[in-house]
Amino acid sequence: MKDPHWHEMETDEVCRTLECSVNGLTTEQAQARLAHYGANQLPDSAPSSVLKRFFRQFHNILIYVLLASSVITAMLQHWADSLVILAVVLVNAIVGFLQEGKAEQAMQSIRQMLSPRAAVLRDGKRVSLPAGQLVPGDLVLLEAGDRVPADMRLSKAHGLQIQEAVLTGESVPVDKQSAPNPAEAELGDRTAMAFSGTLVTSGQGRGLVVATGTDTQIGRISLMLKEVEPLTTPLVEQMGIFARWLTLLILLIGGLLLLFGHFVMHYPFEELFMTIVGLSVAAIPEGLPAVLTITLAIGVQRMARRNAIVRHLPAIETLGSVSVICTDKTGTLTRNEMQVSTLILAEQTLQVEGQGYHPGGEILDVQHPDRDPPEDLLQEAGLVALLCNDAALHEKAGQWTVEGDPMEGALLSFAAKTGLVPERVRQRWPRTDTIPFDAQHRYMATLHHDHQGHARILLKGAPENVLNLCSRMMTIQGPVNIDKGYWQDRVNQLASGGQRVLALAMKQVPDGQTQLNMSDIDGSLTLIGLLGLIDPPRREAVQAVRECLDAGIRVKMITGDHAGTALAVGRQVGLHNAGQVMTGAELEKLDDVALAMRVNEVDIFARTSPAHKLRLVMALQSQQMTVAMTGDGVNDAPALKRADAGIAMGRKGSEAAKEASDLVLADDNFVSIVAAIREGRTVYDNIKKVISWTLPTSGGEAATIILALLLGMALPVTAIQILWINLITAVTLGIALAFEPTEANSMQRPPRSRQAPLIDGALAWHILLVTLLFLAGVFSIFSYALDKGYSLELARTLALNTLVVMEIFHLFFIRNLYGTSFTWQAIRGTPVIWLMTLTVTAAQFAITYLPPLQKLFGTRPVPLYDGLIVVGIGVALFAVVELEKQLRLRLVP
Ligand code: ATP
Repeated sequence: MKDPHWHEMETDEVCRTLECSVNGLTTEQAQARLAHYGANQLPDSAPSSVLKRFFRQFHNILIYVLLASSVITAMLQHWADSLVILAVVLVNAIVGFLQEGKAEQAMQSIRQMLSPRAAVLRDGKRVSLPAGQLVPGDLVLLEAGDRVPADMRLSKAHGLQIQEAVLTGESVPVDKQSAPNPAEAELGDRTAMAFSGTLVTSGQGRGLVVATGTDTQIGRISLMLKEVEPLTTPLVEQMGIFARWLTLLILLIGGLLLLFGHFVMHYPFEELFMTIVGLSVAAIPEGLPAVLTITLAIGVQRMARRNAIVRHLPAIETLGSVSVICTDKTGTLTRNEMQVSTLILAEQTLQVEGQGYHPGGEILDVQHPDRDPPEDLLQEAGLVALLCNDAALHEKAGQWTVEGDPMEGALLSFAAKTGLVPERVRQRWPRTDTIPFDAQHRYMATLHHDHQGHARILLKGAPENVLNLCSRMMTIQGPVNIDKGYWQDRVNQLASGGQRVLALAMKQVPDGQTQLNMSDIDGSLTLIGLLGLIDPPRREAVQAVRECLDAGIRVKMITGDHAGTALAVGRQVGLHNAGQVMTGAELEKLDDVALAMRVNEVDIFARTSPAHKLRLVMALQSQQMTVAMTGDGVNDAPALKRADAGIAMGRKGSEAAKEASDLVLADDNFVSIVAAIREGRTVYDNIKKVISWTLPTSGGEAATIILALLLGMALPVTAIQILWINLITAVTLGIALAFEPTEANSMQRPPRSRQAPLIDGALAWHILLVTLLFLAGVFSIFSYALDKGYSLELARTLALNTLVVMEIFHLFFIRNLYGTSFTWQAIRGTPVIWLMTLTVTAAQFAITYLPPLQKLFGTRPVPLYDGLIVVGIGVALFAVVELEKQLRLRLVP
């Protein structure tokens, strides 16, 4: 069937064609259509095929070296060695393959948590649904910051602008309206349509869904098939490069040793070559890249469990180094469960009672209980609260919840308390036009007509802005000239108690006026009164702010709210400097240099707009701070992009903000930011632990062989034994570190500098020290055994076991880089650590005592007493490195 040209049809014709009504669909209709049309989704990009993923594991210079070695050993007819090398390669590939699959799955499910939602009218009620459930005929509400969820024919548009770059390449937003377009209009000129995947940059609108999923314009060109982001971060990439250079270095050293051994020491070539192969395998950290990737994937999963959804992997690293958090107030530090508690009129202050959003409760004059609240004025206030409002209240089993802005929900509940019956009032005063709220002018206005030829503008907004628009105020006797001083005092009084203050105003206009423009709101409005809304701080936020301060992280509140309210809330949650506030107006007077000087002192910024947020991020960054910034609106996107870690609100945040962010908070809660930072620090620590364990282990093994070669003595471990150690330990012990939990004192350390190198002086020293200790351990047991007259095979078996035992003890040491290892917690370890340790121990017993393995690896059974010495060497290594750490921690706190 040829597509109908929706853009040239009138909306009622669209309704007829789609068999829907202006009130949207019923749930039954929608379900039937969903079954018929399918979900509103585009097919995912094909997941990389299993086989391809498996073979990708071999595409790695380290693996090439190993494969080449295996071919050469086979040519030399050292079948056992050749097989063991192949086994090393295979086991590594399988582990890498399985872990990568798990990591990909984890990322996939996390991506699904971010699937967008849409506000829809179903059964005549506004509900929020996953965008995938939309069907043709649905009536969808759009507002600034939304990503358009399906192709729609617009039925209403107020200042609606949509950026259609994904479709047309044009980055300037297009004005949208609801009148039909000419038949021949191109996509970019169809102003009566909103297309799936485009972004609403301002205004409001509603439209009928005409196409979903692959039937949409974007679905047809399949532009949305996003590339899967590789599972890596700059640090891990750096390590990958480091590992490659290390491989080259080791090959070079191997080559030189081969020449030296052959021409200077006159070793037989074949044996020498095998030894060099063993050396290379030992020294090349082939398991490292895989283990680092796993560490990242585990970090991402842990963050998701704490309601922080990572969108860009590099953010995990950045989060660990955050030194200042710039946070919103409403919903992040406070609960965003608003309730109107005070109504201030020209002559009376009234208390509004009730519970949550339940639309019942009394309005009383507590100071003068004998005075009745003035009914007329109450209803005027109620009228603005009810009609200048886009939210809806729903009741389910006695529980009232809001659909839309919680503050507007509170206003609906308040309106019901003034005695108005919402349905009746809405029918009597239908809305003709709207100026939607935006953070710039800070008010919302609506135009209404009744059926008797009256028209009025209703307006609500921030008191500073609304007062400037009013010339009169309502009193019991009727409107009189406004007394601004009185109202300003009242605003300050409400704000200093931490209440959010909203002013309500109205204006009668001629019946003929059907459009509402900014110019109609010209300073001739009549103020009705002020509403004070309470929004209690989250109790857990107080604790989280304290945790940040302990961790050397400053917390700054950046809010669009009144300075007084911001100060009161700042005090309640325990901000560091809760005595000072800078307003957006003050901030604007400072140039960038002056702002950079002041930004450290002030922790509370009030009446700010999104542009101020961007300037604050830059000012903080110029002070070498690593900035995490939260945001929710479409205009917050530049600040979120510029911040080192941009954090969007999952619930109240717009799609635009989410897309500009690195991290999305599923619960909008400040506590989740702090949890994410803690996890970020843990991931960094674990990456460091993996490296701190792997490099000295490789170093120790390699040094053992090199030293023996240079000294011209018998090798303490043979090539094939070294291969065995790599086979079992590289893929077991190292991985355990990826699962390490957060160290106890992780949030008592100051943030790490972003410039700090991963392998710093302390780590380099650790690598050297442990390498030397490994050497000492292996050579001690080896010469002890030879002195005792043991066979060379038994001496080697002892050396081999000593190496592995030292690796295990070193692993237990590494678990606590920053604290003592002598706590019950540290000794108890984690299930993964013990599982890996037991596996390796069992493998060691097998190679030492099982005859077939003894034959293959040239080992001999170890007497009990000597076995104890081997374990003793491990204990000694542990004691030395632990003491050294304690000394170092005390020297450099
Ligand atoms: P916070 O940091 O507390 O989340 P914000 O930066 O989100 O604040 P805005 O939503 O920009 O603050 O609101 C700024 C002011 O605008 C509010 O203090 C309130 O007075 C007014 N305001 C907010 N929402 C509306 C609305 N829907 N209609 C009218 N006025 C509003």
